[in-house]
Amino acid sequence: MRRLATISVHTSPLHQPGTGDAGGMNVYIVETAKRLAAAGVAVEIFTRATASDVPRTVELVPGVSVHQVLAGPFEGLAKEDLPAQLCAFTQGVLRAEARHAPGWYDLIHSHYWLSGQVGWLAKERWGVPLVHSAHTLAKVKNASLAEGDRPEPWTRVIGEEQVVAETDRLVANTEAEAHELTTWYDAEPEQVSVVEPGVDLGRFRPAPPGNEHRARAHARALLGLPDDGPLITFVGRVQPLKAPDVLLRAVAELRARSPELADRLTVAVVGGPSGSGLDRPSALIELASTLGITAQVRFLPPQRGAALAEVYRASDLVAVPSYSESFGLVALEAQACGTPVVAAAVGGLVTAVQDQVSGLLIDSHDPTEWARALAGLLAAPQRRAELARGAVTHARQFSWDRTAWRLLSVYQDAVAAHRRRLAAQLVSC
Ligand code: UDP
Repeated sequence: MRRLATISVHTSPLHQPGTGDAGGMNVYIVETAKRLAAAGVAVEIFTRATASDVPRTVELVPGVSVHQVLAGPFEGLAKEDLPAQLCAFTQGVLRAEARHAPGWYDLIHSHYWLSGQVGWLAKERWGVPLVHSAHTLAKVKNASLAEGDRPEPWTRVIGEEQVVAETDRLVANTEAEAHELTTWYDAEPEQVSVVEPGVDLGRFRPAPPGNEHRARAHARALLGLPDDGPLITFVGRVQPLKAPDVLLRAVAELRARSPELADRLTVAVVGGPSGSGLDRPSALIELASTLGITAQVRFLPPQRGAALAEVYRASDLVAVPSYSESFGLVALEAQACGTPVVAAAVGGLVTAVQDQVSGLLIDSHDPTEWARALAGLLAAPQRRAELARGAVTHARQFSWDRTAWRLLSVYQDAVAAHRRRLAAQLVSC
């Protein structure tokens, strides 16, 4: 493997994660690209240009470049409208490759089904293997929608089925996703490799032992959050699928259950709007007001790197009540900072959180059950301290180094199998 073409049509590795369409996939692409480059693989990432004032090609770090392909208007194009721009985007990718000597790229890795469609054509043209990561799957998402949320269209389902059929290797985040790919999308079991995502253990780390309280106070002061009282935090894109409303409703229940605890409690919602329904930032603010908990809820814009680690360290608990989650990087990051996670027992969260060891998994989105679990933990500092230790140990099993290393091995297998197939075809000619 010398050169990798990574395709990320709908969201750019240059975008701030935690708002709009930028989330875990952006983090995944950036973190693995950096490590692949360090291992000697030049990574070229193709994404759609969404601003006129940035150079067409940007070097992220030595060995990783981002090509911003012109395809449709810079702004105002929803993800749902992107299929109409796939031809323009693909042409931009093919043209970029045509400027090089034949055989420039050894392999394509596409992320999300829209990129898979581009990779499908590029793979045919370049005669190289295609590796695909779905990140989310429409059939899975549609099976667990939030009330009133819009289902993914059938055109996406068909698009995903096409990509699965045409891809050399599929990368799944967990065994559960591998199972979904084979049972819901008819992928061949040998087509699928499980590669767990990672966490930046250098950035997301706990406070030094004995310094937890001081670090917490420091973090809260930096973020402008109350320095005393319990803090439960939601981090991520504010969208129905991530269910921040379940957390707010649980806090309202908690208020009815133990008003003195609820009075001291703060809930921080960190992230920006995304998707439909709750995409109006005001929707959650209105909900907090309707529930009578406005005084308890603080909204913070998306945070970057070190500031995000402070958010996790400032919190007593991080809540991840999602209806569907292909992995849940936020859960890993919080745990790496020594903060126990209370998460819905769905998708990748079952792997990201070790139930009763690094946090709690709740098999429900019923606010009453969430209120019970949160109140139980807030009232038990000893139990929280145990979970905090378990959280750090659990998170340390995951690292981006390991993810990149395993990806590289998937790439090498795919290239070797491709070359064997070509050799066999030559012999049969
Ligand atoms: N994120 C961030 N700043 C924020 C909120 C989120 O950088 O204010 C990042 C977070 O660190 C995580 C990613 O966005 O790496 C979200 O990934 P996750 O897998 O939790 O959810 P996704 O967005 O992929 O559904």
